[in-house]
Amino acid sequence: MDIRKVSRRFGATPDLAARISIAIGAAKPPAVVQALDDVNLTIRAGEVLGLVGESGCGKSTLGRIAAGILSPTAGEVFWKGQNVAAMPSQARRDADLAAQMIFQNPMAALNPRMNVENLVAEAPSIHGMIRGNRADYVDDYLRKVGFDPTMKQRLPHQFSGGQRARINIARALAVQPEFLVCDESVAALDVSIQAQILNLFMDLREQLDLTYLFVSHDLGVVEHISDRVAIMYLGRVVEEAPVEEIFARPNHPYTQALLAEVPRIKPGKRQFQAVKGELPSPINPPKGCHFHPRCPYASERCRVEVPERREVAPGHISACHLNDSTST
Ligand code: SF4
Repeated sequence: MDIRKVSRRFGATPDLAARISIAIGAAKPPAVVQALDDVNLTIRAGEVLGLVGESGCGKSTLGRIAAGILSPTAGEVFWKGQNVAAMPSQARRDADLAAQMIFQNPMAALNPRMNVENLVAEAPSIHGMIRGNRADYVDDYLRKVGFDPTMKQRLPHQFSGGQRARINIARALAVQPEFLVCDESVAALDVSIQAQILNLFMDLREQLDLTYLFVSHDLGVVEHISDRVAIMYLGRVVEEAPVEEIFARPNHPYTQALLAEVPRIKPGKRQFQAVKGELPSPINPPKGCHFHPRCPYASERCRVEVPERREVAPGHISACHLNDSTST
């Protein structure tokens, strides 16, 4: 998937009366949230791309656009070389099915009145994907996610968080996707269950040749699961690189701050520091480099000029003015 110069704004569209009031100065224009600002990102077939950033940076909006459940306000999304917005309806339907999203809260994503069998069978039935026996089709997907098919007549509330996560994954897989967008998909689970679900995602990748966009604020999870990592700050992707490279040699000052570890006495799971200062509002983002109010290296230029993305090492892209003299 190629995401090219994609922007997404949210805000109320004023009606005629409101537009007249705004034009004569009797009312203020409605606030517009710039959730994404000119984002370029490529997700390669078969890879796991981790998308990281603080809460409110736009990563979930980008995930929803990648999954085809939200349209960009500007820019284009290409799936296998074709512009999704310009696809004929059948090809668009296939592209929509090929990309599925797995949300953070499985309970909210599952209809509480449908049993597991119907939850998993619903979408493939609608799209005519079940050729043979419906029950066998469902059982096959439940087994793939490690869920006992003999429990398929029960309702979602009768299961634990981990089992509901598995039902949710089976439901997404049942339409035979190639690309999964996981939006904080393990964040609500206990740590031991998180590890099981992450391992399940990796097993499914091998079995079904899946590609993942893995949206998370948890750097430990992203480091564990990703091939490449993209870092977002206030609606922009500021750095992307292979996972070992970004953790060993973060280039962008925001990534450096994000990856600064909390000093530990005992060895074990890495812990990361919170970045100092508040994330500014996306209603009125700082001009130039969005990170300048929190950046220890900010210069006058940073306050007015948006830094360009530059390749600082093979496959390692960063958007910071400090790279202008060292770029390759
Ligand atoms: Fe800091 Fe300037 Fe680089 Fe932005 S462009 S990260 S403000 S040095």
